[in-house]
Amino acid sequence: MTTEGIAPESVAPGAAGLSAPAEPPTGCGPLRPANAAGAEAAVPLRQALFESVRAHGTMPRVDLARLLSVSPASVTAAANELLAAGFLEEVAATPREGDTLRGRPPVALAVRPGRAFVAGIKLSTPKHTAVIHDFAGTPLAEITRRSASLILTPAEVLAQAEELLDAALAQAGLARGDILKLGVGLPGFIESGSGIALWSPLISAANLPLAAMLSDHLGLDVVIDNDANLVTLAELWFGDGRGVANFAVVTIEYGVGMGLVIDNRLYRGARGLGTELGHTKVQLDGALCRCGQRGCLEAYVADYALVREASTALSLVPNHVPPMQMLESLYREAKAGNAAARSIFRRAGRYLAVGLGNVVNLFDPELILLSGERMRWDYLYADDVLAELQRSSIQVDRPSPRVEIHAWGDMIWARGAAVLAMSQVTSELLGPGAVVAA
Ligand SMILES: [Zn+2]
Repeated sequence: MTTEGIAPESVAPGAAGLSAPAEPPTGCGPLRPANAAGAEAAVPLRQALFESVRAHGTMPRVDLARLLSVSPASVTAAANELLAAGFLEEVAATPREGDTLRGRPPVALAVRPGRAFVAGIKLSTPKHTAVIHDFAGTPLAEITRRSASLILTPAEVLAQAEELLDAALAQAGLARGDILKLGVGLPGFIESGSGIALWSPLISAANLPLAAMLSDHLGLDVVIDNDANLVTLAELWFGDGRGVANFAVVTIEYGVGMGLVIDNRLYRGARGLGTELGHTKVQLDGALCRCGQRGCLEAYVADYALVREASTALSLVPNHVPPMQMLESLYREAKAGNAAARSIFRRAGRYLAVGLGNVVNLFDPELILLSGERMRWDYLYADDVLAELQRSSIQVDRPSPRVEIHAWGDMIWARGAAVLAMSQVTSELLGPGAVVAA
């Protein structure tokens, strides 16, 4: 079992004087401000209480009453219900200043990790990843497998998901029956609510009822979502987005993705497509995009766009070389001072800056997290890109949004998929109408 390595690097264009957010407490889940944690009428107190405990790691009852703006008696009743049903356990509280040593040792509530398990899978090119999480959000297994090919048939998707899941279960020492829900992330236009993959560059078929197909094949409850949404959920649950109410995550991998959090919640939109920054237009009648339209940001910034330029503008490597290898050659050449290679990155960086400027002007986020492999950002996150972003953002006498790079490991995507499963399982077990039995 390993934990994710995060190497955040904070550069704030025009945001001098803004301090980094305070160290988040242990635990996982969105850290909503006091009085807002249980404010939604639709969420019963027991669910709000459980989610607050999970978000803070451990929490004494008295603090929960304060956070949720309810009486200590209400907290006691809800906590007793959750303790009896095995969702929470009592642990020794961290002593605080002013605590006396007399009387009962201070007690806090914590999530009982083994009460439920969820799995997360990210299907991608060139590799797939999978994780298993306990109910406290701790990863118990992490698996990586190479993708069978660039584009998978529906049957290959089912087979690869099954192999990943079983390998993760074996590593965690669990069986399929232990998993309450599986979250699956993939690139493309994914209708999460209905479980339909409307279009994915990874799958050879469109309008595929993927969640139902996976569920039948694996004998598990399955939920699917766009991969960028899942990275955003991971940032909201584990990363720098935990205490930030409004932020955007932009991912640059094989394509360009985006997730948007508004008021501590992932924004999904009317059709469940959320935000598709990669397919916003930056050039009329411009370069052809994988989606079939022209002039999309992705067609200038994503891996495949760089590869296309590398193969046509440079005679660095022959055309039959695999895309990732070609991209690595391009990075090496740029680093070594090759002017043509550098100009490819400079152009991509300028397009990226315009795209990010549009995000700032549309949503006014507090923070933009750039998520992806470090290598890319060496070029796309250069000073002149930040300056271009600054120039294309609205200028007012207030600090600009912070921009940070998160070069997470590959597992962040799968962990986001597990988070999606976990948040739904939590609602199903503790939400309105749920019968919380001992
Ligand atoms: Zn497009």
